[in-house]
This record gives sequence, C-alpha cells and structure tokens, in this order.
Amino acid sequence: MNPIDIWLRDVVSRAGFGDVAELVAQYDLKAYRLRQLYHAATKELLAGPAEVTTLPKELRSALTTRGIAFSSLVPIAVQRSRDEQTTKGLFRLHDGKEVEAVLMEHYGDRTTVCISSQAGCAFACAFCATGQGGFNRNLTAGEIFEQALFFARTLGERKKRITNVVFMGMGEPFHNYDAVMEAVALLNDPNGFGLGHRHITISTVGLVDKIDRFSDERLQVNLAISLHAPSDELRSSLMPVNRRFPLAELMAACERHVQKTNRKIFFEYVMLAGVNDSDECARELAAIMSGRLYHVNLIPYNATPDGAYSATDNARIWDFAAILDAAGVPVTVRQNMGRDIAAACGQLQAETQPKAHQAVSQ
Ligand code: SAH
Repeated sequence: MNPIDIWLRDVVSRAGFGDVAELVAQYDLKAYRLRQLYHAATKELLAGPAEVTTLPKELRSALTTRGIAFSSLVPIAVQRSRDEQTTKGLFRLHDGKEVEAVLMEHYGDRTTVCISSQAGCAFACAFCATGQGGFNRNLTAGEIFEQALFFARTLGERKKRITNVVFMGMGEPFHNYDAVMEAVALLNDPNGFGLGHRHITISTVGLVDKIDRFSDERLQVNLAISLHAPSDELRSSLMPVNRRFPLAELMAACERHVQKTNRKIFFEYVMLAGVNDSDECARELAAIMSGRLYHVNLIPYNATPDGAYSATDNARIWDFAAILDAAGVPVTVRQNMGRDIAAACGQLQAETQPKAHQAVSQ
C-alpha cells in the first residue's frame, strides 16, 4: 500500500468515514487535494486541515468540523529533563489508552525519537515497566507515526529535525508487524516525512519467525535484538519469550539476517546488578557474539518503581565492556539519558503523577 493511502485510511476511519472514497464523494475532492492534505501533515508538519492555506477556506473548516485531524494523540504529560536533552511525552489515544514516546537531542544535530508500537506489552520481561503492566492493544500505523510527527513539530519550532527513529518504546514491534511496517513506510516516504531507512531501528525481544520475515523484506532498516543474557537459563528467567525461541534459534535467525541483508545487528544488553553483569557473563556473551557484523550495546538500567532490579554501577559496566572488547566484540556503552524523568520504557505511565517542577507545557 502507498504511504498516502495508509495515512488517509487511518485519518478517515478515525473521523468515522467508511473509507477514503466516502470522504472524496462527500466533498468532491480531487486527488491533488488529498495530496495537499498529506503533504501538509507529513512534510509541512501542520497541526490540522485548518492550517492548510492551500485549501479553500470553506473546505478547511468543513473538514475540521467533520473531524478530519492530522493527529489523534492527545499529549497529557510532556516532561523535559533538567539538561534539556530528553523530552518525554505521554499520549492518550482516542479510546483512552496511553502510550509514551521520548525525544533525545544529542550533542550536535543528531536527534532520536523513541516510539511505541503497542499500548502495553504481552512479553512480560521481568525488568521492564511496560512488561509488568500487561498488554492493552496494537497501535495503528497512524498512531505510531504520529508520535514522530509530534516531536518533529516540537523540533521544528527550534529549527531542528528528527534524524533517527527507534522502535524502543512500549510494546513489541514484531508483535504488531504489519502496522509497524506501514509506519516505517510513512516515516520513509520521500514525498512525505522522508526519513531514510538507515535512520530507523526496530528492536525486538527476538521473535524468530518475524525476524526471518523482516530479513526477507531486504530493507535497510536496522535491527536490534534485546538479548540481556548469554545463557538460556538466565535469559528465560528475565525474558519468558526465551522459552519459545531459545538462544540457539534466535542466534541462527540473526545469522540468516546478516547473510541475507549484509547489515549489522545491534544486541541490547541491559546491565542488571548481580544478575547478568559478572565477568563470566561477559565471557559467555563474547562467545556467542562471534558473528560477523554483530555489535553489543550495553544499556545502563533505569530502575522501575517495583525495585526488583538495580542498575550496575558504571565501573562494572566498563569492566564488562573491556572483556567483550578484548575478545574482539564491538561494544558501546549507551549514554544514559533522561533518568530524572523516568525515560525508560513504560516508566512515565507507571508513575502516578509527573512531578510538577519537571513538567513543561508544549
Ligand atoms: N519490545 C522491544 C522494544 C521495546 S523495549 C524489545 O524488547 O526490544 C526497548 C529496549 O529497552 C529493550 O532492549 C528493553 O529491554 C529495554 N528496557 C526496558 N526496560 C528498561 C529499563 N527499565 N532500563 C533500561 N532499558 C530498558
């Protein structure tokens, strides 16, 4: 499906139309009018039809009154970290469900938006705030895309743009595969948002069948695997999905991905004090990271409210990294951002009330 058709389908169904044809018939819209609307939303980053001055005035107000909107997300809490590098948004969907997205402004011009693919998550990883809350529902392609649009508008006010999008917010992207691929098409469309595939990363708990499907798409989109443990026993205790797709099967799928796409895979490894951060874990991890184009990202843990796990201290993280490095495994330690605003997956929603002094209105 064309990006414009994906976008229109979501916009008209939210406004209560049966399909795009119904909207077109009702307002006698020509195809170029539809393109104007799409362009206004995805390229000019306008907030709604009322702002689209290329449309006749009556049409603008008719569409607005009839419920045609460029976003269905209502920002209900937007918090910026004290260093102003991280902005986290909590959004209410049309049915009252909530999702989060995070904007990270790195030094230089690089900006990354971390978006959610589902409200809640079905995979129940032991250390993850979203996993503890259970699954609500899949997001539509439009709802996923609109999280990026929201922050693109915020950045636009500061003459900046989004340079990277990562599917590392709430939910499991490969558990909502079709909508995520449609959202990728919306993000990528050169006639719209225009973000290159290489600037998009999808992170998965490791659904082997979907990894294969994704490899077969032959996209330049980056793949990240949430590994978090080097053995089946430990991984199954942290990530129940490992019982369905144990490490040997997961690593075989990763190998196939590299063979097919010749693209690097990022392995995420969240550092949990006394759980997966020993020298022995590092050596075991090095042993399974022997593949070509494998890269390990060590992630400082953001403690969740239940306090079941705590973060490995920095010195230990660097010692762990040194073991991987000595074994020839490419490794980076992820910069921790937004810890003061609980910016890890599911944390803002898990907090009852955002702290007033951190809240900024957008
Ligand atoms: N379901 C996908 C994407 C969402 S989570 C996946 O699991 O990859 C994105 C990343 O954040 C995952 O690697 C996840 O394990 C990690 N994560 C979750 N909770 C975290 C926390 N409290 N601190 C640090 N990283 C966390």
